[in-house]
Amino acid sequence: MTALAFLPFGRFGQDVEHVLSASEHFEFHTVRPGEGGPPRPAPLAVVTAGSTPLAVVEAAVRAAGFGRQVLWLPLLLEPSEFSVGPWIGRGAACLECYDARRAQHDGSQGRSDTARAVWDAAAHAQLWPHLPSQARLAAGVAIERLFCLAGEGATASRDDLRSVVRWRSATGDLHNHRVLARGGCEHCAVPRPARSGDPLVTLVETLAKAG
Ligand SMILES: [Zn+2]
Repeated sequence: MTALAFLPFGRFGQDVEHVLSASEHFEFHTVRPGEGGPPRPAPLAVVTAGSTPLAVVEAAVRAAGFGRQVLWLPLLLEPSEFSVGPWIGRGAACLECYDARRAQHDGSQGRSDTARAVWDAAAHAQLWPHLPSQARLAAGVAIERLFCLAGEGATASRDDLRSVVRWRSATGDLHNHRVLARGGCEHCAVPRPARSGDPLVTLVETLAKAG
């Protein structure tokens, strides 16, 4: 059975842990934030769940002894939605690109920033409630993501690893997005587009030579 590490945060993390522990396909070794080191033998990846800000979660993953080489999957509960993914770590997405894309596609960034600041403060106190069904659904999506990573259900491609499944409470719909790496990101190693490939730049260069 494939071994995985699991870092739970707060009540949501505990409820997800309860569901994952019943898995017949994966063996989860719970690592309490701030306690001990990573389990041995080394797990395939790390799964986290909670309403804790992702920067704090990432710091806890590193503090538990998992370096940037190790992939981790965040299950994040927010006030009006929860999300599963993307895989973060070498060969997948990085938190900086994910944060940048979330800000880029947020149509109400000002309000979101305000709400997130309040939420970040409240999340530490584990004030956000959730339904048990949300924890079960998040755990189910996480299992699907793990099958993808382990190659038991499909061959995990970089696009697969970068996908985020988001469930919005207002509509009840599940959406799947892909986190595009920022050009020049040192973690995602995406080269910046060559200037010579820009049609406008090429036209200007051609006109300059002709002139
Ligand atoms: Zn990146």
